[in-house]
Amino acid sequence: MSAAPPPPRRPGFPARLPSLGHAPSSPSVRAAAPSAATASGWGLDSAAVRQRMVQRLAAGGIQSPLVLQAMGQVPRHGFVDSALVAQAYEDTSLPIGWQQTISKPSVVARMIELLLGAPLAQQHGLGRVLEIGTGCGYQAAVLSQVAREVYSIERLRNLHEKSRSNLRPLRLANVHLLLGDGMLGYAQGGPYAGIISAAGGQSLPQAWRDQLAVGGRLVAPVAQENGQQMLLVLERSEQGFTESVLEAVHFVPLKSGVA
Ligand code: SAH
Repeated sequence: MSAAPPPPRRPGFPARLPSLGHAPSSPSVRAAAPSAATASGWGLDSAAVRQRMVQRLAAGGIQSPLVLQAMGQVPRHGFVDSALVAQAYEDTSLPIGWQQTISKPSVVARMIELLLGAPLAQQHGLGRVLEIGTGCGYQAAVLSQVAREVYSIERLRNLHEKSRSNLRPLRLANVHLLLGDGMLGYAQGGPYAGIISAAGGQSLPQAWRDQLAVGGRLVAPVAQENGQQMLLVLERSEQGFTESVLEAVHFVPLKSGVA
């Protein structure tokens, strides 16, 4: 397939969403026309509801302005079933089909804030990120607003396809959707400044450690010896890896193979 080469992008400036009919103070958003959101039927005036969600995230401890802005930009209601649209901005996980769920906004924001806290990201902005578990594509869209490139892998073909159609109207040139077993990572896109898993395993796959850049961070749910899933942060330095175990979380299981 021959496609026009993507326009050059200055490092440190991730893709911005096309006009979603809000954020009047942002020139980049205001300049983009026509509105992909409206054209695709996502014209629901959700900006105010989303801003309330952002205020709740801030009240709940999310401090990064970049994360709060990204959460305020991405139309979460465009990633859930039409029957669930009314709940799209509540802080709950919701079913997305095939026994999987879209993560709670507070957990998405928390994990991305942790990624941004890595030394590499602090120095140069967040570079390449690997997401394991694309699901409906929501988190990939949020990541696209804070990272230079997002590689997102999904093992379920149906969800991979669904995320593709969910994301299409947003025209995010820096999101790369892959069908595959995320336990193997995606070496071609690495090393990654950030790795984020939306599914929880018994341990961290070796490939993730190998593909993490020095100065980068990996954020993932991992089961502890007592079976409780906890959020884990692994940071890589020249000297090796440092692991921190944070709060308890509830993610769908990490499984191997493509289905
Ligand atoms: N980030 C997603 C959350 C999806 S739930 C969102 O915003 O909607 C987690 C996803 O991880 C599920 O879709 C599940 O199929 C997927 N998953 C589980 N194990 C995987 C693996 N080894 N590789 C890729 N995806 C995996």
